[in-house]
Amino acid sequence: MNISTSQGLFEKAQKFIPGGVNSPVRAFRAVGGSPVFIKSAKGPYVYDEDGNEYIELINSWGPMILGHANELIQEAVSDAIQHSFSFGAPTRREVEMAELIVSMMPSVEKVRMVNSGTEATMSAIRVARGFTGRDKIIKFEGCYHGHGDSFLIAAGSGAVTFGTPDSPGVTKGVANDTLTAPYNDLAAVQQLVDANKNHIAALILEPVVGNMGCVLPAAGFLEGLRKICDEEGIVLIFDEVMTGFRLSKGGAQQRFGITPDLTTLGKIIGGGMPVGAYGGKAEIMNWVSPLGPVYQAGTLSGNPIAMAAGLTMLNYLNDHPEVYSQLETSGHRLTSGFSNSIAKLGLDYTINHIGSMYTLFFTDQQVTDFPSAKSSDLVLFGKYFHEMLNRGIYMGPSQFESMFLSTALTDAHIDRVIEANEESLKAALS
Ligand code: PLP
Repeated sequence: MNISTSQGLFEKAQKFIPGGVNSPVRAFRAVGGSPVFIKSAKGPYVYDEDGNEYIELINSWGPMILGHANELIQEAVSDAIQHSFSFGAPTRREVEMAELIVSMMPSVEKVRMVNSGTEATMSAIRVARGFTGRDKIIKFEGCYHGHGDSFLIAAGSGAVTFGTPDSPGVTKGVANDTLTAPYNDLAAVQQLVDANKNHIAALILEPVVGNMGCVLPAAGFLEGLRKICDEEGIVLIFDEVMTGFRLSKGGAQQRFGITPDLTTLGKIIGGGMPVGAYGGKAEIMNWVSPLGPVYQAGTLSGNPIAMAAGLTMLNYLNDHPEVYSQLETSGHRLTSGFSNSIAKLGLDYTINHIGSMYTLFFTDQQVTDFPSAKSSDLVLFGKYFHEMLNRGIYMGPSQFESMFLSTALTDAHIDRVIEANEESLKAALS
């Protein structure tokens, strides 16, 4: 495959942009080689600067649930730009957007629009702290909630210890306020809570994890967290930046039947434009400025172009429940095809899957938390990734990512992915 134009761009990019990219995973460091630079995309395909065509399995890390360059969203955006790009003043669409989110996700009684998932999670923990008058938060090892300082904390030396910063620039003070527990480990959470009575403002998690690869909550885990939070007056935050409007019309919370106190959103609600949101119980959201004392603001928040794209996307999803049945069917078709190939090749790799999210882990362990995800053979994953890319399949360039299917994928596309997967596994192992 010729990627010489991409290679040239990457060389130049490295002179002017740290690492040549505006978000680290794009640099392909986890899989080696040089990233392909994308020029355009339509429906189920992306095209790089050298004219190579790929079937899209990452879909901008989730937002493009209807496939690329959806005509309805294009029209809405074209229409909106006729009226200027930003006002920094309230607009009708923001009201419509808030009303729609509230109707689709009943745990959300009030919602505030921001510009990214990171802003959403940062703001959600701030309001939880304001509301409870407490400082500490609990997050789970391997969950990603954007790059806010409070979330860049690794597990440290265990669930009951204080976190240590994952990145220079995060102060010890901030790190000390973030406690971490292994995912799916209720006992560890209970221990943290008992050791920090009346100090924990919020517990934040991905109700289905996408960021250590796809990891599902064990039976009873979400229920158990809800119970602990209720007993201890802790604000339960579901970070549904990935899962919101993807795993069902009402997100993972609807799928699993658990009601969080706050929810953070992003990706799909922007239809591909930079948008995030946080919302939840009115009692908590009433603490947000200017109604309440917790400050949070944004020049471009509720941006009219982003609202036009997001509103069109959400309206479509709201009116077309068949989107979700199609995505379920596609997810099943793809992962059963993968399972068949794995069995046929005598391998024992693990596939985690729910709806339109999946990860093939190069490990024979059940993947239920970060340590088990890390038992994967990362070198092998890197080889497999490039074999898939060479066969025209565009995936997230890391083992610790979930893939995201779109409705633009037909059975024929999925069958091509299944075939490429089998060939790529054979080639990577040879
Ligand atoms: N939360 C989750 C669960 C995410 O997956 C991400 C990004 O992938 C974020 C938050 C951060 O969102 P953004 O990249 O829009 O800042």
